Amino acid sequence: VLACVKEAEAAILKEEQTKAYLPIPGHPTYGEEIRHLLLGESGEAVATMQTPGGTGALRVVADFLAEFRPGSAMWMPNPTWPNHPQVFSRTGLTCESYPYLDESQTQLDRQGFLDALAALPPEQFVLLHGCCHNPSGVDLTEEDWVAAAELLARGRHLPVVDIAYQGYGQGIEEDAAGIRILAEKVEELFVCNSFSKIFSLYRERVGGLTFMAKDPSVVETVTSRLKRCVRTHYSNPPAHGGAVVTKILSTPALRADWLEDLSAMRDRIRAARVSLTQALRKSTGTDRFDILAQHQGMFSLMGLSQDQVEQLREEHAIYLVSN
Ligand code: PMP
Repeated sequence: VLACVKEAEAAILKEEQTKAYLPIPGHPTYGEEIRHLLLGESGEAVATMQTPGGTGALRVVADFLAEFRPGSAMWMPNPTWPNHPQVFSRTGLTCESYPYLDESQTQLDRQGFLDALAALPPEQFVLLHGCCHNPSGVDLTEEDWVAAAELLARGRHLPVVDIAYQGYGQGIEEDAAGIRILAEKVEELFVCNSFSKIFSLYRERVGGLTFMAKDPSVVETVTSRLKRCVRTHYSNPPAHGGAVVTKILSTPALRADWLEDLSAMRDRIRAARVSLTQALRKSTGTDRFDILAQHQGMFSLMGLSQDQVEQLREEHAIYLVSN
């Protein structure tokens, strides 16, 4: 548990006056803090719902889209977090995939990715990972984001960005670059964010669903539909985790402590990547695994076959996930 979390919790315990329900969209200050982290000082019309984790946000947006356009497809990268297809298909949306990695499974297939976006039928729902792609660790550069955003805008597609690791890649601001590029170029945008990892608040279920539109009246209409989805799922969000995050983000000293902890977590992941890469260089005599040091966030694909993973397991007691 981060020290800033303990401190915020102690203050909340002392100050808390009520256990009344939160409003359906959650605490308004929490929403403002999320919008600020994701979009900076954007002038667009935006609304945020406080959700039980990033998964809650994904489920609410899935529900909304399935009701709004039943039977539609959600396009997601191949590979993606295994829960993505499960969440979206449960609501009746169909799951389609677009290419993301090249043959090595360790790098972006830039052309394949952009060609697939260019070839989509108009007005599709498209899921993108904001940063620290799970499971590959392969992220888009700013140039890739600009190219993707232009194609999404041209096809009048609706991007849904999932961001669960903001700050684990390059930094809080840097990791939001893709979202901000999209926000500038497309008419409407959903972002599902999770604070589970970056505040180490996993079990408190802290996340958010943010909707941005160039037309403020659309934000109002969509918010009212989202509220109906929430009302029939969990009625209103759990308060504690959101209160902790709000306390930290809105108290300058706690915010500074958190940013320091976040940098420490990011540096530790980087250091582990670099030392693993160096060790693999030494023991294999090749630079084949150098790519691990370039990947972002908690996950990487190494381009190993299932047989190789099994061999590592059986013969060397080195345990990797088989996919
Ligand atoms: N999206 C991605 C890509 C994730 O990796 C995760 C967590 N593993 C989530 C969303 C959901 O996080 P939460 O625990 O906040 O629901």
